[in-house]
Amino acid sequence: MKVLVINCGSSSLKYQMLDMTIESLLAKGIVERIGMTGSMLTHEKVGVEEKFVVKEEMNDHKDAIAKVIDALVDPSHGVVKNMSCIGAVGHRVVHAGEKYSGSVIIDKDVIEALEECIDLAPLHNPPNLLGIAACQELMPGTPQVAVFDTAFHQTMPPESYTYAIPYEYYEKYGIRRYGFHGTSHKYVADRAAYMLGASIDDLKIITCHLGNGASVSAIKRGKCIDTSMGFTPLAGLAMGTRSGSVDPAIIQFIAEKEDRSIDDVLNILNKESGMLGISGVSSDFRDLEAALNEGNERAALALKVFAHRVRYYIGAYMLEMNGLDALVFTAGVGENDINMRDVICNELGNVGIKLDPVKNRVRGREAIISRDDSKVSILMIPTNEELVIARDTYALSNKKIGLNRGK
Ligand code: AMP
Repeated sequence: MKVLVINCGSSSLKYQMLDMTIESLLAKGIVERIGMTGSMLTHEKVGVEEKFVVKEEMNDHKDAIAKVIDALVDPSHGVVKNMSCIGAVGHRVVHAGEKYSGSVIIDKDVIEALEECIDLAPLHNPPNLLGIAACQELMPGTPQVAVFDTAFHQTMPPESYTYAIPYEYYEKYGIRRYGFHGTSHKYVADRAAYMLGASIDDLKIITCHLGNGASVSAIKRGKCIDTSMGFTPLAGLAMGTRSGSVDPAIIQFIAEKEDRSIDDVLNILNKESGMLGISGVSSDFRDLEAALNEGNERAALALKVFAHRVRYYIGAYMLEMNGLDALVFTAGVGENDINMRDVICNELGNVGIKLDPVKNRVRGREAIISRDDSKVSILMIPTNEELVIARDTYALSNKKIGLNRGK
């Protein structure tokens, strides 16, 4: 079965087409500037070097998905004969609140539940819903599956997810820690168990998803028991442009001193803080390391703050799990930034974490990067959220097709 994976942002859309009978990628692409001037689709077919680019106005997500389908069935750039060859569509959906702890076939009830979560993810759920509506319209009858960023974290116990604020706010508004990047944390934890030749049920794992957005999770016997992001993806680690957790009183203080609204300050904490805010240079770790090498002290400080926060969570989660078997690095920074992995693991030998500086010189492929005498295995694992989405979509839509046949 061919599965189309869709990840919709407000003005962009990423997609992948996979053949799930052999789990292989057939094509992938991105549509940018949806609903703006200069809309553009860039499509890459596996095995073909030259990219297929379409520059045409795309007024909304339906226009964009129609162009994606055109590219996928195009006689020279496409990978399927026609639309009916697309067996199912998997959608990345950011927030499912407390409603779903796993992926689901999309029906009217699911759409309603996601609409109810718009308050919790005002930037993410609306475009996710637009993508689903567009696919339903353009591919009626094709099973659609929602895979949620929050689902994997639903196993957290109440003491991890409850904020110490009046309990009624949890009851009335669902204010609690949800956690994000769940698909990635789950994927790399499963791969780590596989690479170590162990059952995930016997392992205590800390997964560090360090990208532009970043989070750390504690995974005990395959279940998430704590994670650093919170009610929104603003919490936890310092990130590319996000502050991570700060003393909440800072918000009012800045608002008053700078004569700004609460909205303005939240925007500053989301878009002008983190590595960019501290360094004044960039949110990109490559730029920060280049600046560091030129002696830029604030870039050096930003990188130190980042590592400090990651180590802080690693320490906390080791105690929470009463030990650690595997420490996993993934996402843009975790996969590529050899120096940052080295700084994070520096002088942790006393707690059993010993990075091998030679094995650590790796990018782009799975590797065990700890020393042979390290009690904790350290792994670098490129994440693959699309594959998880495609797997869940394949499994659920096969089940649905089976059930329909049985009727
Ligand atoms: P992601 O959000 O997972 O796509 O990660 C994107 C981030 O990864 C970029 O903003 C960079 O900061 C970081 N990154 C990508 N490549 C490298 C690299 N070679 N060295 C250091 N950081 C990198």
